[in-house]
Amino acid sequence: MQSVAHILHTLRCVSCSGNLTKATDGYSCSRCNRAYRATDSCLFVIEPSSSLHSERPDGIVFRLKLWVKKYPKLFTVLNHTLGTYVGKSAKQCISSLPKGSVIVNIGSGAEIIREDIINVDIDPYPGVRITADIHTLPFKDSSVDAVISESVLEHVKDPIRAVAEMRRILKPGGLLYIVVPFIIGYHSSPGDYYRWTTSGMRELLKEFKEQELGIAVGPTNALTYILREWLATLFSFNSNSLYQILVVFFMVLFAPVNLLDHFLKHYASSPVIAHLYYFIGTK
Ligand SMILES: [Zn+2]
Repeated sequence: MQSVAHILHTLRCVSCSGNLTKATDGYSCSRCNRAYRATDSCLFVIEPSSSLHSERPDGIVFRLKLWVKKYPKLFTVLNHTLGTYVGKSAKQCISSLPKGSVIVNIGSGAEIIREDIINVDIDPYPGVRITADIHTLPFKDSSVDAVISESVLEHVKDPIRAVAEMRRILKPGGLLYIVVPFIIGYHSSPGDYYRWTTSGMRELLKEFKEQELGIAVGPTNALTYILREWLATLFSFNSNSLYQILVVFFMVLFAPVNLLDHFLKHYASSPVIAHLYYFIGTK
């Protein structure tokens, strides 16, 4: 893991764009003197209490997700067994970048894609190096070799601004890896605002040079997602706790069916109802 001290030259003040320097209990801006709290592992550009969590539903799935995010390895295992990822992964995408490249995973949660990655999130999950707001990233212009952001933009109030920020911080020729959802139910994490078609994704990312756009998670996963929500709703008899339990039950039950997407990913019509798309491009 790269420490904040290692990448200090790439960081800037979110108030005035000044340079950050080491202070006694964190960092401070050399221009406007704004102080940034830091622990050994994390720089707090925003404090967790001031983060944008306006909707905190009390659902079992949401709480399970929060709990699982505290255990990065469990999170990765569940992510890969309950859903079937068929696209090029972020890890494959950045495999050609040498060790020590500045690679930022924005909205990382607790997932650690590679040892030298810099995890950025609104909340200080384990492994998060910097807490920040995606609309105002604390990186200098053209300072980063690669930006990764998986299933984050639908939870962002202004994804156009977030994408512009990603482009701003990337070096010319820098790599972008983005995953967004298409056919999926409402899933607060904490908010949930947008979906993209392939055309919508191209429009959102039109300033980047497209290298690849494809299915990350396929149509069977989309179908079982909708089906499990429908079955859980039908058999909940309008009880929210029963609904939450049934969602988890059907999620596990349908997991093997999702494997069909390994075949369907080769079918030309699969993107029509795909669950998630990925996009790889350069600045
Ligand atoms: Zn400043």
